[in-house]
Amino acid sequence: MKKSLIIVSTALTVTACAQLDNAPEKQFPKNIIYMIGDGMGPAYTTAYRYYNDDINTQEIEKTVFDTILTGTARTYPDDDTYVTDSAASATALSSGIKSYNGAIAVDSDKKPVKTMLELAKEKNMLTALVVTSQINHATPASFTAHNESRRNYDEIANDYIDNKINGKLPVDLMFGGGTDYFIREDRNLVNEFVDNNYQYVDTLKNINNITQIPAIGLFNKIGLPYAIDATKNHLEVMTDKALKLIDNQSDKGFFMMIEGSQIDWCGHNNDITCAMAEMHDFANSIEIAKQYVDNNPDTILVVTADHSTGGLTIGANHKYKWEAQKVKDFKVSARKLSKKLFKNSNLNQEWNKYSSTPLSDHEATSLNTAKSSDEASLFIAVKEVINARTYTGWTTNGHTAMDVQVFSYGKGAEHFTGNLNNTDIAKQLIKFIKG
Ligand code: MG
Ligand code: ZN
Repeated sequence: MKKSLIIVSTALTVTACAQLDNAPEKQFPKNIIYMIGDGMGPAYTTAYRYYNDDINTQEIEKTVFDTILTGTARTYPDDDTYVTDSAASATALSSGIKSYNGAIAVDSDKKPVKTMLELAKEKNMLTALVVTSQINHATPASFTAHNESRRNYDEIANDYIDNKINGKLPVDLMFGGGTDYFIREDRNLVNEFVDNNYQYVDTLKNINNITQIPAIGLFNKIGLPYAIDATKNHLEVMTDKALKLIDNQSDKGFFMMIEGSQIDWCGHNNDITCAMAEMHDFANSIEIAKQYVDNNPDTILVVTADHSTGGLTIGANHKYKWEAQKVKDFKVSARKLSKKLFKNSNLNQEWNKYSSTPLSDHEATSLNTAKSSDEASLFIAVKEVINARTYTGWTTNGHTAMDVQVFSYGKGAEHFTGNLNNTDIAKQLIKFIKG
């Protein structure tokens, strides 16, 4: 191998250079699958291991997270808080530049920063976004749009058409929610996508009506329903379809960002049942991506989180235990459970539809007291029962500054080891894209 390299370098011509570029020993992957678990701090992946444990076996089975863990990442934003939001963190993860909380791919001076998705498009790679939030929510937006505030949802959605890269639309394939922002009175972006030859579907069960790229699927008005309240794992279905659609469609490869968007939303609610179901959907989606890498070794899979949410702890109230099986016992999210209990006159009877463990007298009293106040109080009381039964602890309704984990698999995975800054992950992936 060394010998042939010397020969090339002594006969350095334009042709030889081109040959060197295509040399098989080049270690950069052609395809990039970048997965972000929004809010997925280390407590989430740990809790998921015990939640996922097969209790009929002696061992505690490893999860996909355990098998591809390679490092950790620092998530602090460009201010003095240490605690990031999803916009600043996604900007770091998409561009390699730290910014302020709320920033959508702009720096601290509110100047646009180039994202890896834009670079990939410049290089004629195919680009894709697969999320369970609205597709213009902070994380996917920070790959595609530029705005001084994550709250400017309509302006951000406009960028999905207007932010042209070499005259082309920035994203070739999009799955998520958000018709409220894309079909508006002042502008119908879906019609504009169709005019640009995009296939469009608006319900997840019709996802297979999409037969080619470019395409956009917007499966709800805002975000998709929580995985635990749905009949199917949305992210899994969308990830599988997206990889099948994009597979081998370009000899330049592809860049795909897949987000488990609502791990964070369940975390903000301090709802462990909801969070674990989102984790399960995300884990299954990682398995699909990992399988893709096995079949296409010219691919890198990087998985990380933007921050941790809720200050989740596994073990609470002075007891040395966490009741994973009792988490599994709840069939719906705490939000849905409290809605059902609020509407129904027989609280105990309604409860038994969603949990196999009847309410204790103490639990029933606290729920009835809350119910006589309002639905919001009942929601809080329901979560108190779930957290007490499972010994789950939370410290906040917001984010925390815990380092997150980095997982990598496939070609170039060795670049994502040790304690990294979140910007280092972006810088390395950008190197891969630049080639
Ligand atoms: Mg997000
Ligand atoms: Zn959040």
